[in-house]
Amino acid sequence: MKTYKIAAIPGDGIGKEVVAAGLRVLEACSSRDGNFKLDVADFPWGSDYYKAHGVLMPEGGIDELKAFDAIYFGAVGAPDVPDHLTLWGLRLAICQPFDQYANVRPTRILPGIESPLRGVTARDLDWVIVRENSEGEYAGQGGRSHRGLPEEVATEVSIFTRAGVSRIMRFAFQLAQSRPRKLLTVVTKSNAQRHGMVLWDEIAREVANDFPDVIWDKMLVDAMTVRMTLNPGSLDTIVATNLHADILSDLAAALAGSIGIAPTANLNPEGRFPSMFEPIHGSAFDITGKGIANPVGTFWSAVMMLEHLGEASAAARLMRAIERVTADPALHTPDLRGNATTEMVTQAVCAAILGAN
Ligand code: ATP
Ligand code: MG
Repeated sequence: MKTYKIAAIPGDGIGKEVVAAGLRVLEACSSRDGNFKLDVADFPWGSDYYKAHGVLMPEGGIDELKAFDAIYFGAVGAPDVPDHLTLWGLRLAICQPFDQYANVRPTRILPGIESPLRGVTARDLDWVIVRENSEGEYAGQGGRSHRGLPEEVATEVSIFTRAGVSRIMRFAFQLAQSRPRKLLTVVTKSNAQRHGMVLWDEIAREVANDFPDVIWDKMLVDAMTVRMTLNPGSLDTIVATNLHADILSDLAAALAGSIGIAPTANLNPEGRFPSMFEPIHGSAFDITGKGIANPVGTFWSAVMMLEHLGEASAAARLMRAIERVTADPALHTPDLRGNATTEMVTQAVCAAILGAN
């Protein structure tokens, strides 16, 4: 019997609700499978921790996490703590030292869920967005001078390194190659941004030489939003910078029905450090405590975590259970225009896992 050590960091707001639900579903997966156990440790880090201790996670927190096989994350952010503090203080504070440079975001229309795009079904919208997760526009470089004065200047410098762009490009080509359509779209803004984005274009061409069976094309990010909306079936695997993919994946999640459904894996593909799995949504304080958060994105990220751990059959069983539940409109939460609660969806997914073969 294998045992995996999982660090659960529920974080803030609905993060706490959906991670609690996700851990129940994972427990059902383990007991149904019978071949692996999950040893879960809970870390109460986030905005509450910040209010008590002045930091979002303790010093030495990263060293503690190193011992785990994977991190299961909820969301971070609270209305009374500045957003950039929470993001840099916890999410990026984990992604960066663990070199989780590949952020992978599958988007697909699940059974029973309607896209806001008329007539678009699962057949037309089945994407994986690969987001560069270690540099680019979110490298944190820049500064402010003449603070508060009329001549104030702020710079926000993007960093694109040959090594950083090459490794994400290679990862994206490999992923595209592993999918049936072998189709990759490389997104940049190289008409307006003449340095980093041109480097992206050049490296895409170089890496493409090693993947002759992958069909690839280039899109400017603005035109990409139009293509995603008007011609979703022409896309499969997508790779973009930290900022561009951040925006495109919110759009993708909305087109697939709700931001509450979409999962993310922050991968350290070489496996030197733990990878982190989370829903793409945030802490959503407007619905916190109401018991109506959609847990499907967090469940789907558990699927990705099980795949990463090598438990492919448990992952597939969990995905089938999720799809069986989304197919039933009586089990849709309010973000999907239904009346179901987090609890109802969680119970139904657990029952589908335990009853499935
Ligand atoms: P962040 O600042 O981290 O992006 P946020 O608090 O702005 O977080 P988001 O997660 O971006 O919230 O979500 C925007 C809105 O979408 C929320 O206010 C909420 O109404 C809705 N929403 C997000 N996640 C869910 C979910 N899992 N279930 C239901 N509704 C959700
Ligand atoms: Mg938001």
